[in-house]
Amino acid sequence: RSNAEKFEFQAEVSRLMDIIINSLYSNKDIFLRELISNASDALDKIRFLSLTDKEILGEGDNAKLEIQIKLDKEKKILSIRDRGIGMTKEDLIKNLGTIAKSGTSSFVEKMQKTGDLNLIGQFGVGFYSVYLVADYVEVISKHNDDIQYVWESKADGAFAISEDTWNEPLGRGTEIRIHLRDEAGEYLEEFKLKELVKRYSEFINFPINLWASKEVDVEVPADEVEPSEEEEDESSKASSEEESEDEDAEKKPKTKTVKETTYEWELLNDVKAIWLRNPKDVTDEEYSKFYHSLAKDFSDEKPVTWSHFTAEGDVEFRAVLFVPPKAPHDLYESYYNANKSNLKLYVRRVFISDEFDELLPKYLSFLQGLVDSDSLPLNVSREMLQQHSSLKTIKKKLIRKALDMIRRIAEEDPDESNDKDKKEEVSSDNEEKRGQYSKFWKEFGKSIKLGIIEDATNRNRLAKLLRFETSKSEGKLTSLDQYISRMKSGQKDIFYITGASKEQLENSPFLEQLKKKNYEVIFFTDPVDEYLMQYLMDYEDKKFQNVSKEGLKLGKSSKDKELKESFKDLTKWWKKSLAASENLDDVKISNRLDNTPCVVVTSKFGWSANMERIMQSQTL
Ligand code: ADP
Ligand code: MG
Repeated sequence: RSNAEKFEFQAEVSRLMDIIINSLYSNKDIFLRELISNASDALDKIRFLSLTDKEILGEGDNAKLEIQIKLDKEKKILSIRDRGIGMTKEDLIKNLGTIAKSGTSSFVEKMQKTGDLNLIGQFGVGFYSVYLVADYVEVISKHNDDIQYVWESKADGAFAISEDTWNEPLGRGTEIRIHLRDEAGEYLEEFKLKELVKRYSEFINFPINLWASKEVDVEVPADEVEPSEEEEDESSKASSEEESEDEDAEKKPKTKTVKETTYEWELLNDVKAIWLRNPKDVTDEEYSKFYHSLAKDFSDEKPVTWSHFTAEGDVEFRAVLFVPPKAPHDLYESYYNANKSNLKLYVRRVFISDEFDELLPKYLSFLQGLVDSDSLPLNVSREMLQQHSSLKTIKKKLIRKALDMIRRIAEEDPDESNDKDKKEEVSSDNEEKRGQYSKFWKEFGKSIKLGIIEDATNRNRLAKLLRFETSKSEGKLTSLDQYISRMKSGQKDIFYITGASKEQLENSPFLEQLKKKNYEVIFFTDPVDEYLMQYLMDYEDKKFQNVSKEGLKLGKSSKDKELKESFKDLTKWWKKSLAASENLDDVKISNRLDNTPCVVVTSKFGWSANMERIMQSQTL
């Protein structure tokens, strides 16, 4: 094309496309889901803008917020069109080629390892999946602020953009024209598309229409139709019986019925908002599917659990929260800087944003879900909304519900039970839930720990969710409540020790006496645990005592005083000779050791040796 401007794909994007084009991945269907999801996002955006500017939607067909799918069997083209926000020329250049998203290289890496393309949408590069089925793609787009352009690429490292002077004007929105590869002919079959939309795009909140063929009976004047042989027979029969069947002859039809193929828009999805339904009427399978669509997590795994509720009172809202089966790839990446919320905010059924940090604290950003509130105003800017006083109430309730939901994962897990009978009870229902908490803990335990650090209000609730190994847990995870239930009579403090690994801690001299006296000691081996224990001072009226720090009391013995007295000179001399060169505070007689003659203990408020190790590894 004479007016085409050429661009090169950003290197990572080009690599991604190469891999997709040459991929042997068999589930090519996913491209449709990704394109429909983009169309739906674009429609959400224009609908949101229209809340504060009615004019923006335009009139007639333009104002119809819908998705349309058309097939051209001869040319082997599948087209998907939306009346969403559209893309300006600059948008086309940036969004479809020159700017690599943060997920691009992580996804390339993952794909090279697993060959699995299913989660492409989670990495923010879903569009390129179209090259699973296409060798050439055109994107025609019209944004209110610009004229209509065509983006096109054969995935050969380059794309072109031209001012569109030949296609029908779109009014507003985007049409993706997919020139299907020979082996992707199945996507020209209507039944295939209907099935896919049903399977993957059930929860898209805009109508998806297919330009579908339909066999209809049409009446045509009888003489316009070449009579078929059979009909000829009948008419001759009729004429031969003319005298006897007078009435019939008179009724002899002047028109005939023939089959004809016509086309009309057929709605493929019923737009239903699952969160508006009564939880009792929603099946587990429906929740599961809803989760997959919401989270763009199209793995085979079901969400661990969910909570669907309505809040009433001053602030009204409905919400569905999900605990995903797996942590997303970037959960703890730039944790404190990035915008991480995964909750979608709706106001009176209208999608507002999925980047609304004010709904959940960062440590709960692993949750997926949706909130729909009638108590928030519709026609204000996002910035105004972010400051709305109702949000605080919503957030508070969401946190409470989220923590309840997580607690239930443990409660329903027979492996978590203290009751031996319950642990061994085998009903199909509870078998399914066996081990679910330790699985949850493996994926999201760090988030709970970050919660204890960040959320003073809910610290105790979160501490209940903590799991760890101890000197007595034999490789299994245990909780603070379980630890307390096993405490020796007279034991006041909860004992713990921090270190790089369980193996290292098990042989620590700090444990000698404690082991001998049969005390249980918690092993904290995650770097974040050091920070955690700076915030977690007590639990259920029991203090935490780091056994490698000053202050360990294992019950006094009558000999203590005597020993202290008789070693007075030695401790004094020692302190004097070491204090100058080392950062030594004191030298003391202690009953914490058994075989080892002496240990270095950190002061109560100083860093533990493990913390020193962590800090060193961070600065190196
Ligand atoms: P994601 O949807 O996660 O952002 P994609 O690779 O699917 O990633 O899409 C890339 C970008 O291209 C989108 O963020 C959007 O800006 C733009 N885009 C894609 N399809 C459309 C569309 N139908 N209408 C408007 N913009 C679109
Ligand atoms: Mg997308």
